[in-house]
Amino acid sequence: MLVFKFGGASVKDAAGVINLGKVVNSYAGNKILVVVSAMGKTTNALERLTTAYVNQQDDLNQIFDEIKEYHYSILSSLFAPGHSVYDEVANTFVEIDWAIEDEPHDDFDFIYDQIVSIGELVSTRIVNAWFNQEGIASKCLDVRSYIHTDNTYREGVVDWDKTRESIQKDVPALLEKSIVVTQGFLGGTSENFTTTLGREGSDYTASIFANCLGAESVTTWKDVPGILNADPKYFTDTIKFDELSYQEAIEMTYYGASVIHPKTIKPLQNAKIPLLVKPFSDPSAPGTIIREGAVNAFTKPVIIVKQKQVLLSISTNDYSFISEVHLSEIFGVFAENQVKVNLMQTSALSFTACIDYSLDRFTKLLATLKQSFKVKYNDELTLITLRHYTDSSLLEITSGKTVLMKQTNRNTAQVVIK
Ligand code: ASP
Ligand code: MG
Repeated sequence: MLVFKFGGASVKDAAGVINLGKVVNSYAGNKILVVVSAMGKTTNALERLTTAYVNQQDDLNQIFDEIKEYHYSILSSLFAPGHSVYDEVANTFVEIDWAIEDEPHDDFDFIYDQIVSIGELVSTRIVNAWFNQEGIASKCLDVRSYIHTDNTYREGVVDWDKTRESIQKDVPALLEKSIVVTQGFLGGTSENFTTTLGREGSDYTASIFANCLGAESVTTWKDVPGILNADPKYFTDTIKFDELSYQEAIEMTYYGASVIHPKTIKPLQNAKIPLLVKPFSDPSAPGTIIREGAVNAFTKPVIIVKQKQVLLSISTNDYSFISEVHLSEIFGVFAENQVKVNLMQTSALSFTACIDYSLDRFTKLLATLKQSFKVKYNDELTLITLRHYTDSSLLEITSGKTVLMKQTNRNTAQVVIK
């Protein structure tokens, strides 16, 4: 069986949904599980909606209306008026009406997951209805009954044993009869609340299903020809890799290559399942294959750019040395606030860490750290990682920039620049 994952960009409009149907049709005769993300930039819009609700902003209803209108305009290009999908979608959006009816009293991360998850619940209903209209037999599965997580909202931790059991119990029989469509990015707790697996987590969903079902391969269909050495948004003359080892793919995602979600590779590597990254605009193109025994060919360094970085400099209130005891306290605060450190350095009097900026998490982190330490920070920075760098490639990337922090080892160079 095959697992296909379609991201937001591939279903950003009616043409995308039609194309998705064509891609799946071109694999007719295979058992296929299709994992779908929210359409276009819906997750970002739902994040804005969540913030607007929690802060009781005036534009709450306007943001919600825009999200609904965007989906209804896609629906009206695909389905005749009166088709049952209109009601299904409307009923799904009603869950947001319920969620935002009362004043916010729950924890932000919990509210976030209950609201943001609607993006995938809606997109899968639309894709499933489109398959059926096109004569492709398919069934829409609610992933929240299959991917079981703990209640770490916004970063649900998967209970693999329970998940494997649920998936193996039902999904193989369903795949005998039809295509199975399900939501990326979501999970469910034992109390039946919705969780999310972390932004861009739909790749991980595909990998969980593939591992539990012993899939032949996973394909993520993207708006790029495969895995490139750098993001074409920032760099010209990029090159595509024909194949990569699991290890290299893990390293790339660890440093922030956004082409694949970091948690995706390991479950595939464990089960020796290849991951293909292919362009949805040209399904027969080879793309990139990540597989056991792949030969990496780095004719150019891999460049990974992370924007919106903050460099935090932490020192003791009495100007004493930063000791292991301080570091353990600092890391405790990072862990509590689910803040990941991208790069760090210690000196006698200070500890410096480069982290991703996220308003709510950063505000809390700062407040807690300031209870015990002096904290200074620099924001709006960029972290650039060069894998398989050369001295000249490092020079080129930093030329004309202020370098605030730099670290190199044999394979990898990292710089925080302004
Ligand atoms: N829709 C979610 C996001 O944008 C999950 C995904 O796209 O993988 O983060
Ligand atoms: Mg997305």
